[in-house]
Formats: sequence, C-alpha cells, structure tokens
Amino acid sequence: MQRSYVIKPELGKEYARVSHGKGIYLYDVSGKRYIDGSSGAVTASIGHGIEEIADVMREQALKVSFAYRSHFSSDAVEELGAKLADWAPGELNWSFFVNSGSEATETAQKIAIQYWQEKGRPTKTRMISRWMSYHGITMGALSMSGHVLRRKRFVPLLADYPVISPPYPYRRPEGMSLEDYAMHCAGELETAILRIGPDQIAAFIAEPVIGASGGAVVPPDGYFQRIREICDRYDVLFIADEVMTGIGRTGAKFGVDHWGVKPDLMTLGKGMSAGYTPMAATMATDELIDTITRGSGLIMAGHTYSANPQSAAVSLAVLRYVEAHNLVEKAAVQGAYLQKKLQELADESPIIGEARGLGLLCGLEFVKDKQTKEPFPLSMGVAARVIAKAFESGLLVYPASGGLDGVAGDAIIISPPLTITTEEIDELMDLLKKAVQQVQEEVRQ
Ligand code: PLP
Repeated sequence: MQRSYVIKPELGKEYARVSHGKGIYLYDVSGKRYIDGSSGAVTASIGHGIEEIADVMREQALKVSFAYRSHFSSDAVEELGAKLADWAPGELNWSFFVNSGSEATETAQKIAIQYWQEKGRPTKTRMISRWMSYHGITMGALSMSGHVLRRKRFVPLLADYPVISPPYPYRRPEGMSLEDYAMHCAGELETAILRIGPDQIAAFIAEPVIGASGGAVVPPDGYFQRIREICDRYDVLFIADEVMTGIGRTGAKFGVDHWGVKPDLMTLGKGMSAGYTPMAATMATDELIDTITRGSGLIMAGHTYSANPQSAAVSLAVLRYVEAHNLVEKAAVQGAYLQKKLQELADESPIIGEARGLGLLCGLEFVKDKQTKEPFPLSMGVAARVIAKAFESGLLVYPASGGLDGVAGDAIIISPPLTITTEEIDELMDLLKKAVQQVQEEVRQ
C-alpha cells in the first residue's frame, strides 16, 4: 500500500494537503484557509499565486528550461547575475547558481578554501562559525552550523571547526551595555583566530540576523563592523549567509546593509525565487574570482541544475517584482508595525520573554519566568505547541528552537510575505494571540 510522502513522525499522522495559494493565504484540500505567517520557511516572500511569475515560467519553459551550464549560459542567467551584482554591496559581482541554501553555503566554503590555495596559502582551510547558527543540512554546511539539535547525530562525520558565541542581546551578561556586548562578542572571533592561528582559518561565516536556530536574533550595532575589521586584520574571509535575510526580508536589500558591511562571499536562497522554483546563489568578490581565474581557472563547485535557465528566469522575475512593488521599503514599514504588535503581545503574555526582529523577520522567545529568563524545558515543546495551535486556527509560523538545545528558550519566527497589508497583520496577530493564550493556559496550570 502506498504510504503518504510526508508524515509528521512526532504525531504519527499525515500533514494536511495543500491545494493552492493566493497572496498571503494558503488553502488545503478541505478548503481551510491559512495565513502564511512565515512565508513557509521564510521563503514565499512575494506571496502565492502571482500570475506574472507564472507567465514568465511558461514563457521560459517554452523557450528552454534546461541547458547544461558547461555548454551554455543564457539571457536569464546573465540578467539575473547582473541584477544581483547591482543589488549587492561592495565588489560582490560574481554569482554562482545552485539549488538550495545548503549548497550555497557549502559552495562558499569551497571557494574560500580554493581562494587561499590559489594565493599559495593552502593551510587556510578551517571555517569559524557561531553557536546558534544554521547554514544548511549537508555535511559541509552542517559542519559550519552551530545548531546543536541538527548536528547531534552526525558529529563524528562533521569537520572539526571552531565555534564562537553569537551576540544574543536578550541573554547578555547582566548590566553590560549593548556597545560593550557587541565588542565582547566580536572579540571572541579575534581570540579564536589567534588561538588556532590565522594560517589555519579560511573564513568566518555568520547570518546577519540569526534565523532558524534562534528566532530573529538581531545583533547590536557595531558587531559586524568589528567582525569585518578583525577578518581584514588576520586575512580571514567574511561569508555573510543571507539565505534567510537577503532580498528585502529585513527591510534592506541584504541584512549586512543595515551596518554598511561588505562581505567577501554572500549566500542567497529562499526569497531569491520566493519559492516559485528551487534557486540559490553564492556571490563572491572580484578579488576572489580574479585570483581563482588567474590560478587554476576552475571553481570546484556545481550541480546538474546549476544556473538552469528556467530557475534563473523565475528568480529574475521575482527580483523585478520586489523592485516594482517597493517590497524592500514595505518590509521596513510593515515590519515596524508587526514588531509593535508583537511587543504588545509580549507585554501582556507571561510566557513571552522577548519580541524581536528586523523588518519582516520577527521572533518570539518563550520563557518559563520572565524575570529570570529561565527557559521552559525543551521537552515541554512550548514553541511547538504554539505552532500547532496556530496551525489549527489557520496561521502558519516557523519553529526556531534547538539551536542551543535547552540552554536557551525556544522560539518561533513570524515572517509573512513582504506584500502583507496592515489589515492582514492585524488578522495574523488575532490568530497568534489566540494560540499563545491557549498555550499559556496549558503550561501554567
Ligand atoms: N542558511 C540559512 C541562514 C538558512 O536559514 C537556511 C535554511 O533555513 C540554510 C542556509 C539552508 O538552506 P536550504 O534549506 O535551502 O538548504
């Protein structure tokens, strides 16, 4: 007998089946409507069912969907590369197209290592990452991910990379100012580089705003500027993982733009094609690509579907849509409104320790005790309960627990499509409030 393709192992029952989507809404086959309050996995950022994207898909499919990247480039790929170079900070003028965020970060890892080889410094092979980070599920990407829960079973297979603390303002040492905390956390990078030796370290990787492993944790101002200085001082490349934060999500084109920082490598995914097709990218500076081109001339990366014209055309159409509808600016404005509403909810709820976010990448962290910030035991699954209650009442939100596996509280991400209106945010908040109230009654009995 055929088994359902997806089964929720923890519930032993099947998922609802999606039927279709329009704007911020998804519908299941029974006709029930859901607000896509997290754009799926922070992905569907222009909303569902947009006809002009469907038109581009059809048009490109009729022209050519697939041509192997070693045989051909295409107008779609070249125009997409040009648009990204135009949007990206600094000298990030080169894009390599892949299919997922994990492939993008793993490609960045390989380019960083290859760059130092071409520079005659082959010992620089290790990456430094941060606890409470997520850079992907494949082994290279997971090696760089400080996501305790996702690493746990595979530790023997992962590269032994150093990991430093992330800035986590909500849980900073008592009495420490945000300015001092920014320097304190960035200082950990310098300490790690000096301990291991700059001749060992190829790159430092970080998400501008911590996503899946923390729930929209925003660093204090000054942190990334300091990180950039330290990377420059010790010849360590800086990889900004913008898979979740890129393409307008935080109210700027890229997360690092909030601090004016220019990475050496940048990874994109999710919002880059807004879920209309699998698409992701690794961007690198002229310096990196010129060095590799002068050397072996061959980037050791690539997949069968890399740079296929179909996905490139869709992604280009998505970026044009974002521009035409001013969605970067809208994310900043609507994000401020959503954050205000989340703060009001946090103020009145005894189980929300912090409401936080940047643009439309927002999070709620649940705690047992608001005074002491003591987390609920993860076994209670408080965030998972809120997600389940919200789902029942027709609201989708995204889990962000397990990054520190019980050391800190669990969290959810609220990240609706960048097209969301104020009335739709109010509707989202009514459902979220109801879900939080139901769970707080359960857990505080
Ligand atoms: N990097 C970041 C910051 C992410 O949030 C994710 C996914 O959540 C990834 C990488 C991995 O992307 P994918 O799931 O497309 O492989």
